Amino acid sequence: MANRKKILVALGTRPEAIKLAPVVLGLRESGSSFECIVCGTAQHREMLDQVLSVFGIELDFDLRLMTPDQAPADVISRGLPLLMDAIRESSPRLVMVQGDTVSTFASAYAAFLSKVPVAHVEAGLRTLDKYHPFPEEQNRRLTSTICDYHFAPTERARQNLLVEGVDDRRILVTGNTVVDALNLMLSRENKSERSPVAESQGRLILVTVHRRESFGEPMKRICSVLRRISLEHPECSIVFPVHPNPNVQSVVRGTLSGLPNVALLAPLPYDEFILLMKRAYLIITDSGGIQEEAPSLGKPVLILRDKTERPEGIETGLAVLVGSAPDRIYDVFSRMLNDQPYYMSLAVHENPYGDGLASKRIVDFLTEQI
Ligand code: UDP
Repeated sequence: MANRKKILVALGTRPEAIKLAPVVLGLRESGSSFECIVCGTAQHREMLDQVLSVFGIELDFDLRLMTPDQAPADVISRGLPLLMDAIRESSPRLVMVQGDTVSTFASAYAAFLSKVPVAHVEAGLRTLDKYHPFPEEQNRRLTSTICDYHFAPTERARQNLLVEGVDDRRILVTGNTVVDALNLMLSRENKSERSPVAESQGRLILVTVHRRESFGEPMKRICSVLRRISLEHPECSIVFPVHPNPNVQSVVRGTLSGLPNVALLAPLPYDEFILLMKRAYLIITDSGGIQEEAPSLGKPVLILRDKTERPEGIETGLAVLVGSAPDRIYDVFSRMLNDQPYYMSLAVHENPYGDGLASKRIVDFLTEQI
C-alpha cells in the first residue's frame, strides 16, 4: 500500500469524466501499482455528478468551481490556486488530464507550476484554427506544450503532435478511452429498456447541441430545421436531451416546445444516453464524444459544425459534416432517411476512434514509465 505510485486525475466536465472513468477504474484495479486520487473542478456540476455516479467514482477533492454564467477566465482564476492546493496536499507522482476544456488546461498548468509531470489523455486533436472550436483548440495546444506524456487516440493525432515538435518517445497511440467507457455501459445489460423514450414511435432521431460556437444564429438555424423535420416527418421521433446552458435552453424550447413528435429532455445519465443511441436511426450533434461513440453502435452522424478535429469519421464515411445551414442539414437528413444503400454505407463500419483497450494501454504504459 505504502509504495503505490500516486496519480492525481483531474476532471471538470461530463466528457472528461466519461473518458477518464475507465482509466480511473483501471488504475484502481486490484493488484495495481497505483493509488489514484480524483480531483473534480466541477466546471459542470450536475452533469459531472451524473457520470461519476454511473461509474461509481467518488471525488477525493471537490473544488466546486461552477458559478452561474461562469466565463472561462473564472475557472482559471479561481481554479488554479485550488488545484495547486490539491496537488500540494496529495503530492502525486503524476497529474492526468483529458481533452480540451478550460479545466484541462488549468489542471495541467497547476501541475506545471507545482513541478509535477503531466499526462494528457486524448492528446493531439487539432482543427488548426485557433478560434474553432473556441476556446478548446487553444486549450489543447497549450496543454500539449505542458505535458510530459501524450496519449493520442489516433495515428492522425500522433502526427499532429510530431509536427509541433513533441518527442515521439513521449507519445502513445492508444485509441480513444470513450470506446472503453461505452463498452462498459453496453456490458451492463440489466438496465436494458429503462430509457425514458423506450416506447417512442417510429424512427428515432437523436439530437444534442451544446458547443459555444453553435450559440446564437447557428442555434436558431439548427432549431428551425429540426422544426421542419418534425413537421414534415411525423413518422420520426426527435429526442433531444437539452444542455442546461441558457444559450441552448432558450432557443431550443422557444422553437421546438409543443411539437408532438419532439421530446425535449434533461441531460440523461450516461447509461441511459447510450441506450438511446442504440435505439436511434441517426444522430444529429455538435458533440465530439458522440462522433466517437456512434461508429461503435453503427449509427450515422450529421455533424453540426463547420470544422472538426475528428476527421477520421468523415474520411471513413461514417459521418457527414453539415454545419448549421438548414438546407444542407435537411438534404443530408432526407438522403439518410430515404436512400437505404446510402444509409447502410454510413452505418456499417469499424470504429476508427478506438477498440476498447485504450485505458489498458495507458495503465500498462504508466506502469513501465513512472
Ligand atoms: N452524453 C450523456 N448524456 C446526454 C448527452 C450526452 O451522457 O444527455 C454523453 C455522450 O454519450 C458523450 C458525452 O456525453 O460521451 C459528450 O459530452 P458533450 O457532448 O457534452 O461534450 P463533447 O463530447 O462535445 O466534448
